Amino acid sequence: MNERPMTSPHSPTLTPADIARVALKRLAELGLPPTPENYTKFYNAIAAIKSPTDKSDAELKSAYQVLFRVSDVLDGMSDTSETLLEDLVRGGEVMSQSLDALRSRSDPTAVKEVLSTLIESTDSVCQTVSNSHRDLQELKSAVDKIQSDLAINRKTLEQDPLTGALNRQGLEHMLAREVKRARRGQLALSVAIIDLDDFKQVNDRFGHLVGDKVLVHFASVTKAVLRESDVLVRYGGEEFLLLLPETDLNGARFLIDRLRQVNVKTPFFHQSQHVDIRFSAGVAELKIDENGHAMLIRADEAMYRAKHEGRDRVIFAD
Ligand code: GH3
Ligand code: MG
Ligand code: MG
Repeated sequence: MNERPMTSPHSPTLTPADIARVALKRLAELGLPPTPENYTKFYNAIAAIKSPTDKSDAELKSAYQVLFRVSDVLDGMSDTSETLLEDLVRGGEVMSQSLDALRSRSDPTAVKEVLSTLIESTDSVCQTVSNSHRDLQELKSAVDKIQSDLAINRKTLEQDPLTGALNRQGLEHMLAREVKRARRGQLALSVAIIDLDDFKQVNDRFGHLVGDKVLVHFASVTKAVLRESDVLVRYGGEEFLLLLPETDLNGARFLIDRLRQVNVKTPFFHQSQHVDIRFSAGVAELKIDENGHAMLIRADEAMYRAKHEGRDRVIFAD
């Protein structure tokens, strides 16, 4: 069989055989029979955890671990609720029989006997309820832990590993959130797309590793200029995007000017050589009748205009 990798050429290679192996191992660990239903469920769940971006094996592994823990917790929940239900039904039957017996008996010894059975059964139901309560509390803390792990996983999946800025996936999430917030509160929302000028020359002159360091440096200079509520995204190789809540075109102009000044004042040095970084930017403010992506397209077009008009400048979309 031809085993084509499940992920893009940049992602960790995960063949169908890898997934099948993990799925079978997992079924064995959980003591579940490898029925076609169980196998399919696990296979699909594992195959679904494919990072859309370049992610390390460690991150992929931690995503598996979270999935497996979710599956364990769900199994635990179903066991606990099954035991609780069975014991309650059994206890209920004994109680109902005892009550029937109580109604039909009149001599004190028989009544005493029935009452003691009733008390025993009540005790046993109480015990089951209290055990289940404890089990459910343990399961709740396991779910809480998984929730916080999922948040950490989501954060790493949405982050650019080189600069620590958000990646495009993170942008999707933030853009949807900020557009909604701007609409609800009738607040301004702007976006700036920044592309470093002649970056190829930086790589050609100093090498790709230095180029990477320049990108990290530029991201940190930009972060220093931004407000806490502003969002920095690595939009492409040497392209960044700023999502600016509660900011109109004037506010964005002020911010880009400041970024230009700070960038000039804090140059990157490689072996005491000054690496000059300049950028072209396109800015757009969200219109009442457009969605977030339409705003991004306008900012992108403005950025291209800035390039065509000679670079090292900012253009505002109308
Ligand atoms: P322009 O002013 O037109 O934007 O010119 P440019 O050279 O910046 O643009 P071009 O699109 O021709 O080249 C982009 C360069 O950015 C080439 C590519 O190798 C480099 N680049 C993209 N991503 C990375 C990265 O992660 N690290 C490094 N070191 N270089 C990168
Ligand atoms: Mg570019
Ligand atoms: Mg460029």
